[in-house]
Amino acid sequence: MATADARRTKFVLDEDRIPRAWYNIAADLPVPAAPPLHPGTGQPLGPADLAPLFPMALILQEVSQDREVAIPEAVRDAYRLYRPSPLFRAHRLEAALGTPAHIYYKYEGTSPAGSHKPNTAIPQAYYNKQEGVARLATETGAGQWGSSLAFAGALFGLEVKVYQVRASYDQKPYRRMLMESYGAQVVPSPSPDTSYGRRVLEETPDTPGSLGIAITEAVEDAVMREDTKYALGSVLNHVLLHQTVIGLESIEQMAMAGEEPDVIIGCAGGGSNFAGMAFPWVGRQLRGEGKYRIIAAEPEAAPSLTRGVFTYDFGDTGRMTPLVKMHTLGSQFIPEPIHAGGLRYHGMAPMVSHVKELGLIEAQSVHQVACFDAGVLFARNEGILPAPESTHAIKVAIDEALAAKESGESRVILFNLSGHGHFDLASYERYLAGGLEDYEYPAEKVATALADLPTVG
Ligand SMILES: *Cc1c(COP(=O)(O)O)cnc(C)c1O
Repeated sequence: MATADARRTKFVLDEDRIPRAWYNIAADLPVPAAPPLHPGTGQPLGPADLAPLFPMALILQEVSQDREVAIPEAVRDAYRLYRPSPLFRAHRLEAALGTPAHIYYKYEGTSPAGSHKPNTAIPQAYYNKQEGVARLATETGAGQWGSSLAFAGALFGLEVKVYQVRASYDQKPYRRMLMESYGAQVVPSPSPDTSYGRRVLEETPDTPGSLGIAITEAVEDAVMREDTKYALGSVLNHVLLHQTVIGLESIEQMAMAGEEPDVIIGCAGGGSNFAGMAFPWVGRQLRGEGKYRIIAAEPEAAPSLTRGVFTYDFGDTGRMTPLVKMHTLGSQFIPEPIHAGGLRYHGMAPMVSHVKELGLIEAQSVHQVACFDAGVLFARNEGILPAPESTHAIKVAIDEALAAKESGESRVILFNLSGHGHFDLASYERYLAGGLEDYEYPAEKVATALADLPTVG
């Protein structure tokens, strides 16, 4: 391995170092994850059960046991628009903290949508196009996923319909405008366009909506139309698989820096950017090639990994999706409208949940004001204004750096900076005006939602 160059700030790979294959952690796990179940029969799902929702190539990736899944040339070509993404050493943040720790961050905000999400939007659009699909239906919480799929749909000539969670539709008009500029159709969810949306609107006309509700609407849309399939921006195995380009590139870049990380951190909503960064490193650990502490950072207001129950639950509020075994707060749980909108989901990727149960990763929950404190400190030293989601990873990285300072030990910290916050300035404005509050863990709401868990078997 190269020797560390103490002054280097930026580690950039050539375009030909974009990975040629995604990394599939299923191949290295000591115990396989529990299979998804059919909500009607309670039996493990077969490929045919998912065919109305996804193209076959993605269904096969969902259950693949191959360690490497080749990235199609057309997808690598589209990745070239913004990949490989840069890795930085946060010299100025280290100095501001006075820490002996070395802090590195992989920056996914250089993509056209401003986050890691195009890493999976592009292959999802590609495989759908390959199989003759004309139109995709999806949901979006904070607007990042909708923007990414709208962008990918434009690249491959697919129509895209986005159900945007009402609260976000109202608070983030620029995200909607970006989606529409890419050619997508956007409606606030719940919407009058689906039977589930109409039912929710009738019962609770002024609901802020939720990711769980919007997922039900998008799934219904896809099931009702022959020309349409559904696309999900997180949680599923194939999404996590596509995101491993992050971790795979970071392994090469840390080698360029001449260092091995001790701690690896990502923020976790549905778990995809965390897994994308972490799983290639977990794989190294499982194969005896390294030893790392790996931490998922989630919001105190929706702490599925740290406080949820590990059990079978629905992925959506309308109970249309398969049952998956995951850490869940209950599919009927609607989180507070915290300002890291992309982290407001009741569940967690089954594969991230499984790896947590196996003790291969840790999880921490953090309050939003402390996250914004960390985000602003980061921006004032490193220049990048982070997405509110990403500030959860920054907060935990800073805590790790301060712990190293306390104990006087050297520590190499690597975290994923999942996106920039240029469309989240209203949240920063609230924070700077002192108007942001912390939400305590909503124990009662979670208990109510958990009382409603489906029975399985
Ligand atoms: C969507 C999003 C997240 C959370 O989603 P995961 O699937 O958990 O990665 C985190 N950061 C940003 C910038 C996002 O857009």
